[in-house]
Amino acid sequence: MSEEKSQAEVLKEKLTYNAKNAWEQGKNEISEAFDLCELYKEYLDKGKTEREFAATVEKELVKNGFENLQNLMDQRKKLNKGDKVYYINKHKAVACAIIGEKPIADGINMVGAHIDSPRLDIKQNPLYEDSGLVLLKTHYYGGIKKYQWVAIPYSLHGVVVKADGSKVEISIGEGENDPVFTITDLLPHLAQDQMQKKATEVVSGEGLNLLIGSQPYDDKKVKDKIKLNILKILNEKYGMIEEDFLSAELEVVPAFKAKDIGLDRSMIGAYGQDDRVCAFTCVKAMLDAQPGERTALCILTDKEEIGSTGNTGAQSNFLRSFISKLIYLTTENYSDLLLNLCLEKSFMLSADVNPGVDPSYQEVFEKRNASYLGNGVVVQKYTGSRGKYEASDASAEVMGLIRKLFNENGIVWHTAELGKVDQGGGGTIAQYVANLGVEVLDCGVPILSMHSPVEITSKIDVYMCYKAMKVFLESNLA
Ligand code: MN
Ligand code: MN
Repeated sequence: MSEEKSQAEVLKEKLTYNAKNAWEQGKNEISEAFDLCELYKEYLDKGKTEREFAATVEKELVKNGFENLQNLMDQRKKLNKGDKVYYINKHKAVACAIIGEKPIADGINMVGAHIDSPRLDIKQNPLYEDSGLVLLKTHYYGGIKKYQWVAIPYSLHGVVVKADGSKVEISIGEGENDPVFTITDLLPHLAQDQMQKKATEVVSGEGLNLLIGSQPYDDKKVKDKIKLNILKILNEKYGMIEEDFLSAELEVVPAFKAKDIGLDRSMIGAYGQDDRVCAFTCVKAMLDAQPGERTALCILTDKEEIGSTGNTGAQSNFLRSFISKLIYLTTENYSDLLLNLCLEKSFMLSADVNPGVDPSYQEVFEKRNASYLGNGVVVQKYTGSRGKYEASDASAEVMGLIRKLFNENGIVWHTAELGKVDQGGGGTIAQYVANLGVEVLDCGVPILSMHSPVEITSKIDVYMCYKAMKVFLESNLA
């Protein structure tokens, strides 16, 4: 017997707003969410660096009928509705598109995420022997709490360009029987002085040295025998000499595989989910999207963690250049005017993670305006810090459009800021795309332990983000 609702209860339901829980709202989709996350974990394990993730995505795009835009440019092949194309920018950034019915100059729907993550980069002169051990000097990349990055297993990924110009790809520490590396920490027994230091100084940047060997080369006379033995191994395995480090890009990343978290397996724990969780959901949405009226585009950028700089970052000309190529191959008379018209009439969901409320650190969140694991995709009207400084702030009109789109399509979503006012803050690629005239809204997945070696997301949020991206890419936004 169900009790009839009082007038006040009906009124309350009609007038008040409460964020919904995606597990409860999306009950029928839970098994789809778990299936999607099996694929997501594969992407995470295959793509631990921006280069590896770009290569992983390229393979999937080709498998799904996307053609290399460079080849089509060379042939000046005309593009038509439903054609799928992609472009890889200097091995580190990706753009792909599905051509729609309307001219590109009428505006397109874009999703964007970044595929670089905080890590430790090997310096150009890294190799040294000290106290019977051989180590590699590193320079950390992105905003890390350095004390989290010691005493864990590491793998080494990247490329080495040798003296003759040939390139060797390196990935050590991911295979079942591979050796791994580590960065040592001081034992508590002798940490009297260290424990008095501020957290920013407990582990120093120059203290992040990767332990890679300890066995000497079998010789009586030669100096630095342990270093020589390591060089011998590198030479045998990769044909490397020490000078080759000068023209190498080697990244040190946690060696763990992506794992389910919780007895209920409802979460994922893995390195690099900021922002590969959004990169994955954007790419999967592109692979599954049907060609629509508007062209759908996905861009995956590099260098977000250090300010979206350089020729593979979101501040570069990459996005404009990619769209101009699409215009060139879909019209008779290319002009910059068409490119500008397109940018002014385009929308982007800038997909990035947002810190979910952590029960152990609730004091940094303003809980009415925070994201929660399990509440679905999180929309962030503005980012920035200290008085919205450097924020990309989406308009009420844009929020209205996305609100309507998500509500009408069963997307469970909520909104958040990045922590309490004046507690800190940050930005995404949104501001750089907004500078081009595009309407941009930040939107992504709540995450715990952001920028740590093991970041945590909820499977239902990953699924909702995928669904949101797909609905957006296929929409007319009329
Ligand atoms: Mn991010
Ligand atoms: Mn980040």
